[in-house]
This record gives sequence, C-alpha cells and structure tokens, in this order.
Amino acid sequence: MNLKAIQYRLQFDFQLAVMTLLCAIAVVGIAPFAVLRAVNEQWLAFTVDMVIEAGTLACMIYAWRTGDSHRPSLVLAYFVGAMAIVAIYVLGPAGKYWFYPAIVANFFLVERRHALLIALAGLAVIFLGGGLNGSPLTEIASYLVTATVCALLGYAFAYRTAMQRTQLEALASKDPLTGLFNRRTLLEALQSTHRDFARDGETRGLLVVDLDHFKHINDSYGHLTGDQVLVTLAQQLEQNVRTGDRLFRYGGEEFIVLTLPKDKDGLAIMAENLRSAIARNLDDGHGHGVTASLGGALLRPGEAVQDWFARADTALYVAKNAGRNQVVIDPGQ
Ligand code: GH3
Ligand code: MG
Ligand code: MG
Repeated sequence: MNLKAIQYRLQFDFQLAVMTLLCAIAVVGIAPFAVLRAVNEQWLAFTVDMVIEAGTLACMIYAWRTGDSHRPSLVLAYFVGAMAIVAIYVLGPAGKYWFYPAIVANFFLVERRHALLIALAGLAVIFLGGGLNGSPLTEIASYLVTATVCALLGYAFAYRTAMQRTQLEALASKDPLTGLFNRRTLLEALQSTHRDFARDGETRGLLVVDLDHFKHINDSYGHLTGDQVLVTLAQQLEQNVRTGDRLFRYGGEEFIVLTLPKDKDGLAIMAENLRSAIARNLDDGHGHGVTASLGGALLRPGEAVQDWFARADTALYVAKNAGRNQVVIDPGQ
C-alpha cells in the first residue's frame, strides 16, 4: 500500500484512524514503562503492558488488512476498558488514572451506548471489586464522580456529533425546496438500480415528469408562486406513487420516479395515473390548472444508465411535441 492510499484510508475511515492513533500511543507511551518494569523485574506489570500493546496492535492490523474497522473497534473498546481496570489492580493507585483516557477513546471508537456501558460498568467493577480500597473516602467519591462526569460528557458529545451527521446527510441528499431526494442521490440510486437489475433481472422503470409551461407561471406571478407549485407537485407525486417507488427532484421543474412495474403497460398505467392526478389537482394558485408531461422507459438488459435515462428523456420530448399533458413510454425496441 502506498502513502497516498494510507492517507486516503486514514482520512475516510475515522475508526481506523483512532485505532492507529491508540496503537501509536500504546507503543510510544507504554513501551518505556514496560522497559522500566523489565529492568526492575516487575514481571506482572510488564506482562500487562505487553498484553495491552499486543491487543491494540492486533486490532489495528486486522482493520488495516481486512478493511473492516467496525468489529475490531468494538473488540478494542471492551479490551481497553478491561485493561484499564486490570491496570488499577496491577499498578496500584496510579493505575486508576488510565481509566479516563480509556473512557474518552471509546466514544471515538464505538457507538455511544457501548462506550457509556463500558465506562459505567468499568467504574462499578473498580468500586465493587475494591480497586479503590485504601484511598480516603473523599478521594474515592471524587474519582467516581469525575469519571462519571467524563463518561456523560463523552456521551453528550457523541450524541451531538451523531445528530449533526444525520443533518448533514439530509442536507447532502435532499432538495431543500421540496424535501425530495436530490439529483446527487438520484445518480447513486440509478447506479444501484442498475446493479440490482443485473443481479435479479426484475423489471425497472424510470419516469421523467416535467411541468408544462412552468416558465409562464414564474413570469406571470413571480418565482415564489412557482416555488409553491413545485412544493405542491412534490406532495401530490408523493401521495400518488406506490410504496417502494422512489421520487427525486432532478432539477428545475423536472422530477424522476424510479419504479418496479410489471411491464411496459404497467409503467404506462402508472404514468397515466400521475398525469391525471396532476391535471386534476394542481393549480397555480390563481385559478389556472397546471399540467405535466411524462416520458418513461424500462431498463434494457446490458444497457448503460445514461442510455436508459436518455430514452426516457426523449420520450418526454415526444410528449411535449405532441401537445403536452400526456404520457409517452419508449417502445424499448
Ligand atoms: P415546457 O412545457 O416545454 O416544459 O416549458 P417550461 O416553461 O416548463 O420549461 P422551460 O425549461 O422553458 O422553463 C423552466 C423554468 O423553470 C425556467 C426556470 O426559471 C424555472 N425554474 C427552475 N428551477 C426553479 C425553481 O426552483 N423555482 C422556480 N420558481 N422556478 C424554477
Ligand atoms: Mg417544463
Ligand atoms: Mg424542464
């Protein structure tokens, strides 16, 4: 693996990056202690240091080799928690401070519920197992409270990060005006549909829905009215597509439906239902009806996604040229 590939993986696989960092810390931070313990012939402490280094290294190497960071992260989180507890019994009072970085590291490695569980269960084991015996009561209480606060703050931070990620994903995949999936998501969906079709051969249909004379609405009543028509159209499409169909705003006043029809006639019936629902229900807010034209095509075996899309688009232009407010499905020959 060259340097660029390493940089790429570290940049896009956060768990792998954290495991690599932990490994570096384990090697650089713990190795000097291990040497000291060997010199002083403290063999139990030396063994614990070695086990921590070997466990961390094993998880990291597994992740680098297999590309699966999820499972070794989970193993490493529980391992780090367990070894931080062991350190208290082997190293004595000084060992208890290792539990703090273990708590924090786990919120980077695994889902927050696992990290919180490891922290709280670890504290319970340390306290009930007598790991803090011998310390004054006020010090035991301070330790338990500060470690719990550390775990709760880690949880709150992880929760906030997860929420922000969800919001970012929605921002990146949805159209802000209509709330439908955007063109970027459509391109991904077309690729995955193409892969699924190659695998199972089930009929796949694509419809392009384009409002008729939409520019006229903008020109007559302004952009905000045009926007409201687009929002209403999106709602009507959502109400009229079937469960399992996927709806996207391709751009402007063009919308896409990805569907699983039985055959070409099934696609035509579905498109006709959408057309008539729009013609019946959509208006410009000033008493004039708004219509749409639809073009559709079934995916052919071995066909490229662009060609499938282009056939549906050509069918749409045939519908426009034939007078609008109609459906044309590509014959597919
Ligand atoms: P046709 O029947 O041939 O489809 O004519 P049309 O007027 O619907 O199509 P045309 O491509 O000429 O115009 C589309 C218009 O859609 C032009 C553009 O200003 C408008 N438009 C694109 N995006 C938006 C938007 O987000 N909001 C609003 N209000 N208008 C938009
Ligand atoms: Mg149009
Ligand atoms: Mg258009």
